[in-house]
Amino acid sequence: MENQPGTKGLVFNEPEIWDKSCNGRCAMSLPKADVKRAQLDKTLVGDAPELPQLSELDVVRHYTRLSQWNFGVDSGMYPLGSCTMKYNPKTNEVQASRKGFASAHPFTENSYSQGSLKLMYDLEQYLKEITGFHAVTLQPAAGAHGELAGMLMIHKYHAKNGRQRSKIIIPDTAHGTNPASASLCGYESVNIKSGKNGILEPEDVKAVMDEDTAGIMVTNPNTLGLFESNIKKIADIVHAKGGLVYGDGANMNAIMGIVKPGEIGIDVLHLNLHKTFSTPHGGGGPGSGPVAVVKKLEPFLPVPRVIKNKDSYEFLTDCPDTIGRLHTFYGHFGVLIKAFSYILSMGAKGLTNASKLAVLNANYIKESLKETLNLPYDLPCMHECVFNDAIQKEHHITTMDMAKRLLDYGFHPPTVYFPLVVEGAFMVEPTETESKEDIDQFIDAVKAIAKEARTDPETLRRAPFLTKVTRLDEVAAARKPCLCG
Ligand SMILES: *Cc1c(COP(=O)(O)O)cnc(C)c1O
Repeated sequence: MENQPGTKGLVFNEPEIWDKSCNGRCAMSLPKADVKRAQLDKTLVGDAPELPQLSELDVVRHYTRLSQWNFGVDSGMYPLGSCTMKYNPKTNEVQASRKGFASAHPFTENSYSQGSLKLMYDLEQYLKEITGFHAVTLQPAAGAHGELAGMLMIHKYHAKNGRQRSKIIIPDTAHGTNPASASLCGYESVNIKSGKNGILEPEDVKAVMDEDTAGIMVTNPNTLGLFESNIKKIADIVHAKGGLVYGDGANMNAIMGIVKPGEIGIDVLHLNLHKTFSTPHGGGGPGSGPVAVVKKLEPFLPVPRVIKNKDSYEFLTDCPDTIGRLHTFYGHFGVLIKAFSYILSMGAKGLTNASKLAVLNANYIKESLKETLNLPYDLPCMHECVFNDAIQKEHHITTMDMAKRLLDYGFHPPTVYFPLVVEGAFMVEPTETESKEDIDQFIDAVKAIAKEARTDPETLRRAPFLTKVTRLDEVAAARKPCLCG
């Protein structure tokens, strides 16, 4: 492939900073002291720290070189399915670093924090509008934390309404965090399989839904990248038996501005601001998992809640039915600022277009690669598409081999071996921020690798070759981790 973005030129070897130390080198010159030298009390301060001795340029190069070993969405396409690794406009960072926000302290009196409180209040209003729900909390620190908050609310709702229930229905296309969150609340997960089209069939829900079941957790769009189009019927079945519907909204990037989950039978939904609403994540910073609820669940929302009282904003903690606090203070405020800035800068039209483009890009990849890779569910997809290695298996080439080889072609691999419903899954999420040129390059790279699978499988099995480290023994790394550096 001629047009590949990957290169191995000018990527430097770099030892540990201690190994570069050279006695007498110093990164700065201090002015001569104009006071008398005094001896420090060694019993108080201990020995002087052993610091490497380096020039300023040594230090700058060391860290710059290390940063070049890293890969992020600012360096290239990051088609990691389920993670929505889209580009985060830098203006959001600028807004979050504004002095008034960056130096705000959570212990400051409400009257001195009106701007921050207003931002939280307004962000809740926007998220209500986007999701179609009655109330929102910004407290949860991530998606899974939002799930826990939602499950605790469902638990409390049933307790309040007479009888506690013991089970939750979870389809095989749900995210792995769903059963974990249900289990943390003491629920037993009842697994159901999705139908032959990769989505839930109302009949299958009906067969297991009973009055000891607290509800269902549905990831929509699901982890196969398909929209659960029977959701309304399913919600009716669950509601008829007194249950509630939890919506995992981590995949909202495919439907914002198009579908309001609050209007299709869902009772409680979490969002991932660090996916859909453009905050760096995956090592790039903390997350935020706001939860939106229907009216009957509002009393159970975590505290503190931000409320508007005439023209001023304050925190409400006195809510008798609340599930309580989820952590100290008020959520990951920096992430809230970035989401607020993103929503305002995109506008309603912009958000809707982002979803449409995310879906278009994923369908373009699906159509372009479906002869190259096996496509277990050949249906129009949402923002991601799931292939597998069934065609390449013939040459004893696996999803892992192809993912590793993509590194040589200059691409971060997609998500592999997830979702579990597809054996050898190769799950691609291009997001709306990739250009057609970049997507075409990715498609060409996958096609070139599929060709290598036929013509030179031996070599392909040893890939990658151009990276800093080549194929790692992952089993040894997991069994005998070297934790001492
Ligand atoms: C990412 C994700 C989660 C978990 O969110 P975190 O912020 O990583 O805790 C839950 N469900 C789905 C569908 C996801 O993609």
